[in-house]
Amino acid sequence: MNFIMPTYARLEVAFNRGQGVWLWDAQGRRYLDAISGIAVCNLGHAHPALTRALCEQAGRLWHTSNLYRIAPQEELAEELVRLSGMDSAFFCNSGAEANEAALKIARAYGQTRGVVEPKIVVCEGSFHGRTLATLSATGNPKVQQGFEPLVPGFIRVPYDDLAAIAALAERDDVVAVLVEPIQGEGGVRLPKPGYLAALKALCEQNRWLLMLDEVQTGLGRTGSWFACQHENVVPDVMTLAKALGNGFPIGACLAKGEAAEVLKPGMHGSTFGGNFLACRVALEVVKTLAQERLTERARSLGERLLAGFSARLEGHSHVRAIRGRGLMLGIELDFPCARLVEAALKKGLLINVTASSVVRLLPPLILEDAEADFLIHTLSTLILEA
Ligand SMILES: *Cc1c(COP(=O)(O)O)cnc(C)c1O
Repeated sequence: MNFIMPTYARLEVAFNRGQGVWLWDAQGRRYLDAISGIAVCNLGHAHPALTRALCEQAGRLWHTSNLYRIAPQEELAEELVRLSGMDSAFFCNSGAEANEAALKIARAYGQTRGVVEPKIVVCEGSFHGRTLATLSATGNPKVQQGFEPLVPGFIRVPYDDLAAIAALAERDDVVAVLVEPIQGEGGVRLPKPGYLAALKALCEQNRWLLMLDEVQTGLGRTGSWFACQHENVVPDVMTLAKALGNGFPIGACLAKGEAAEVLKPGMHGSTFGGNFLACRVALEVVKTLAQERLTERARSLGERLLAGFSARLEGHSHVRAIRGRGLMLGIELDFPCARLVEAALKKGLLINVTASSVVRLLPPLILEDAEADFLIHTLSTLILEA
């Protein structure tokens, strides 16, 4: 640990094995993983189909670079485009990088429209990554502090506030809006129904690109392939990462229409992005999510969890809200509750606290009913005792 930069305040526990929704530590204690490595392991740990795909590809070919065609990358692009209604994909290695691609597309799109200093609208409470441009887009001062000067070119508005964005229509330098369909790090915040659809209409009227950061919400998490599909919205740009490789690093920036035409040879790139290993695994992730009907499963499990937590916690004096969509759930308390994480750990349960007072749950989509009930029982008891 002494040789690791202290960028994370880590818990003391170290896991050495995983199976399904369970993780084991060196002492052989098991823990129910209700955070999935932060919305990454949607198919749980050591899923046999993924292990098989990765090992098979590892014995064949890992990397050739994007100087050449890469068959699994082309297949993965086709699959993601088919599922999302987008036109094309750029592959990279993380969520921040996917958003960097989106930001570059927005600026280049603006430049081609003759906007010399294009502006991108972003929201308060948002999280888009830790690179300089994405932390500048992020709406959390803690993420930005100490790294000034920030990258310019962003206009910040409150989340879930259409009027604030509509008011920007007078300006002639806005080129895009970047928003999360549900804010994850920001505290599992759901906008009012109709927000995304109205935002899409507003963007169309003004020729702004609607760019959705689905890094956390994408790939079945909220009970549909992509969270924007709950409102039948197809954006101009959509970014993915987290669950796409179930833990194998891969990100994607999907684009549609004019946005898909912006990047020309030489304008963007990545050495590792979209290599054989990552794309072979991601293809298997997408195939398995479909085969096991896990988007539907996320939807029904989410309802079970919401109902279970509501039955035990609603009306309790310290519980402000119980909310979520599919398997992206937040329980907002009226006090900073970071210590619940260690209390849960002692009970064999991995949870996360975000925005200081919101317990965030992002369990694997393969969670079984009995495991969901263990989660409801254990966490509700802890909250009632807190
Ligand atoms: C996690 C996250 C990111 C950043 O992804 P990294 O892979 O950590 O770079 C960006 N946007 C959202 C919404 C996220 O949840």
